[in-house]
Amino acid sequence: MATIIDGKRISTEIKDELREKVAKLKEQGITGALAVIQVGADPASCVYVRNKKRACEYIGIESLSYELPETTTEKELLDLIDKLNADDHVKGILVQLPLPSHIDENAVIKSIAPSKDVDGFHPENVGALFIGQPGYVSCTPAGVIQLLKRSQISIEGKNCVIMGRSNIVGKPMAALMLRENATVTVTHSRTISLQEICKQADILIVAIGKKEFVDASYVKEGAVVIDVGMHRDENNKLCGDVKYAEVEPVASAITPVPGGVGPMTIAMLMNNCVESMER
Ligand code: NAP
Repeated sequence: MATIIDGKRISTEIKDELREKVAKLKEQGITGALAVIQVGADPASCVYVRNKKRACEYIGIESLSYELPETTTEKELLDLIDKLNADDHVKGILVQLPLPSHIDENAVIKSIAPSKDVDGFHPENVGALFIGQPGYVSCTPAGVIQLLKRSQISIEGKNCVIMGRSNIVGKPMAALMLRENATVTVTHSRTISLQEICKQADILIVAIGKKEFVDASYVKEGAVVIDVGMHRDENNKLCGDVKYAEVEPVASAITPVPGGVGPMTIAMLMNNCVESMER
């Protein structure tokens, strides 16, 4: 039976450590706020934004909420970001994605000062990650590294296969695993012999956005399986990219959905906010 990697417990552990750090910073007179901008009222985004504000409250940092109407123009949004970039009290700026289609997401990401880009999406932070320089790291892949390390799963020298090459998960995940000295293979929708490649993995990280796509035939006996996917099944229950019931008996360790990678993303966002305050 596989060890269940408990993201809920590990994320709480991280948030408790951050809470202590924030209290110490306050004693030194260092405070700051996270600005959370949401355009429109996409139901999933509303849940994410609410959870991010709750996490701020938990660790003791202020959150400033900007709930803008769907009709907000790109210029109005960029003007608000300019204002927040110039405000010293604001230590982090987060624009909840996706944005309405009339707004260019890349332009918005680039307009955030890299020093306040706590999501780690700005090209300067992405570049820093790839050349091993300090900067903010995208929260979900950073969370996966913490899950592995805090579960005493060694990464160095391991054969790691990443399924998916998105800018927010797959690519930064590959850079981080490389930084941890894994041997990394990145697969995607055009990969030939996907199953055989995945079956070579000591650590298989799945981020393809396809409900319960990965079954036992993709997994080597004893592999560690990290499921980044997030979906609702026919009964409206959360599930991942991995067929959990089938893969769990083959794996040595596995993340559940919910309660695996999901809670880590917000914990690492809080970590980036505290890092910004410390800077
Ligand atoms: P995305 O932008 O849609 O990217 C999906 C990637 O998977 C693409 O690179 C795509 O390849 C690849 N892919 C799609 N079908 C494939 C297949 N059949 N075989 C191999 N590769 C395939 O998705 P994302 O934003 O990275 O998110 C992935 C999943 O993680 C989603 O379920 C999302 O909801 C979830 N997610 C969860 C969290 C969290 O906090 N837990 C955070 C972010 C994302 P191509 O590049 O060739 O198209």
